[in-house]
Amino acid sequence: MKSAEPLVLGPKKLLRRQRRVELLQSLGYVTVVATLAMFLLDGGLANLSDLPSWLDALSRATSLVGNALLILMLLLTARVPWIDRIVGQDRATEAHKQLGKPAFYLILGHFAFSLTSWAISDGRNVLAELWWMVTSVTDLLTATLSILLMVLVVLSSFRFVRSRLNYESWFITHLLSYAVVGFSIPHIFSMGSDVVASIWHLAFWTFLYLFAGLNILVFRLLLPIWNSATSSLRVVMVKRESSDSISIYIGGRKLNKFGAHAGQFFQVRFLTKDLWFQAHPFSISSKPTDKVLRFTIGDRGDGSSLMQKVPVGTRVLLEGPYGVFTQHSRTRRNVLLIGAGIGIPPIRALAEELAGTPGDVSILYRTRDEEDSALLTELRDISRRRGHRLLVASGSRPANGNWLSRTALSDAQTLSGHFPHVASSDVYVCGPQPLTEAIEKTLRELGVAEDHIHTEEYAW
Ligand SMILES: Cc1cc2nc3c(=O)[nH]c(=O)nc-3n(C[C@H](O)[C@H](O)[C@H](O)COP(=O)(O)OP(=O)(O)OC[C@H]3O[C@@H](n4cnc5c(N)ncnc54)[C@H](O)[C@@H]3O)c2cc1C
Repeated sequence: MKSAEPLVLGPKKLLRRQRRVELLQSLGYVTVVATLAMFLLDGGLANLSDLPSWLDALSRATSLVGNALLILMLLLTARVPWIDRIVGQDRATEAHKQLGKPAFYLILGHFAFSLTSWAISDGRNVLAELWWMVTSVTDLLTATLSILLMVLVVLSSFRFVRSRLNYESWFITHLLSYAVVGFSIPHIFSMGSDVVASIWHLAFWTFLYLFAGLNILVFRLLLPIWNSATSSLRVVMVKRESSDSISIYIGGRKLNKFGAHAGQFFQVRFLTKDLWFQAHPFSISSKPTDKVLRFTIGDRGDGSSLMQKVPVGTRVLLEGPYGVFTQHSRTRRNVLLIGAGIGIPPIRALAEELAGTPGDVSILYRTRDEEDSALLTELRDISRRRGHRLLVASGSRPANGNWLSRTALSDAQTLSGHFPHVASSDVYVCGPQPLTEAIEKTLRELGVAEDHIHTEEYAW
């Protein structure tokens, strides 16, 4: 096989990957269990004599676990490269979403338990107690503000609210999560009797906050700015690919330092007057080189429509690369690449970069109109050169509800008819979310195991 890097395949690689994922998950569990264990060892359940003392214990336990979950949530969406390399952005985001509800209920529980406990002890009603707390107790005003912001962030995550917000409004609301954690920190260290109870407890929490904060600061902010600034990234060429997509070539110095691989994506920020404030995820659409990175961008909304007119010379900031939709996730010799619509850019790049001898790699391009399909000519060219098998399935979605087959055959039958090795292949799928889900279902019907289905969802 011809490849710049030696290609490792086989079940051992899969096992190593699973172990890394399990190790990461275990670190998360250990963090949560450690907070509870320290609480109990420090006598968290000692002296429970009356209702206020029970409420107080509950308030402290919910606060410790809730805050640990909040820190884990921030880390999971901070686009930290070492997390991304192990699980990929979409799985990290999924885990972040799953932790959201427990963290929210625990922090609300902490608020309710402590308020009630204090109110009973002070002989006030809860409203009077709340007023007294925020006006008289140092750091409780910011802590209450933190809870209010948290409610706002959680509301913006509900499906029905989220579907009504554009990405930028949702994103800005979500950035408030940093304020949620930031505003809660002073009261945790000044009032959290458990946190300051022992040197171990204090060291543990200080480490957690510093570790999360530094990861976010370095990887989310400083490194992208440094890499982009020192590479002098600019748009060097723009090329129309189809009636509604263009390729933007970004040139610069020593781009290898980004360490990008085919199949990965960057958060791209074009520094024009209309676009500088929004970063959008786009996949690399050709094998990255030291001098040029290329993105192929479909006209899908406000931002991407403006990008269709980005002038040559525009400065660019890149954050990334992200994603495990790469050769590194491959464990089998046979590979089937399936790209649909504007999901084709990473598939095109993988077709070029994947190691293989003729016949190892097959490609299915699902497109509405073969005559107006981005990157199809290049895919044909690469396939001819490298001996890939390319099938173009064009036309709108069949009336029979299938995503591929227009005949009485099922999608599974049609797919395995075209690609007999599919069940023993690694399959990479990129396209709109509903179509990706339909393709995954077909693959499962054909017996392709979850570990061999790799997807990059264009969703947030
Ligand atoms: C990992 C990944 C890789 C992608 N790669 C490509 C690519 O190579 N080529 C390409 O054309 N498109 C790609 N996309 C989709 C692209 O990011 C969105 O189409 C683009 O951000 C839309 O921005 P807009 O302002 O034009 O759209 P809007 O008018 O804001 O919305 C149009 C649609 O795009 C979605 N969208 C908006 N902003 C984002 C965002 N920041 N992240 C994800 N979805 C968003 C909205 O939910 C909506 O469905 C990718 C998306 C992801 C998540």
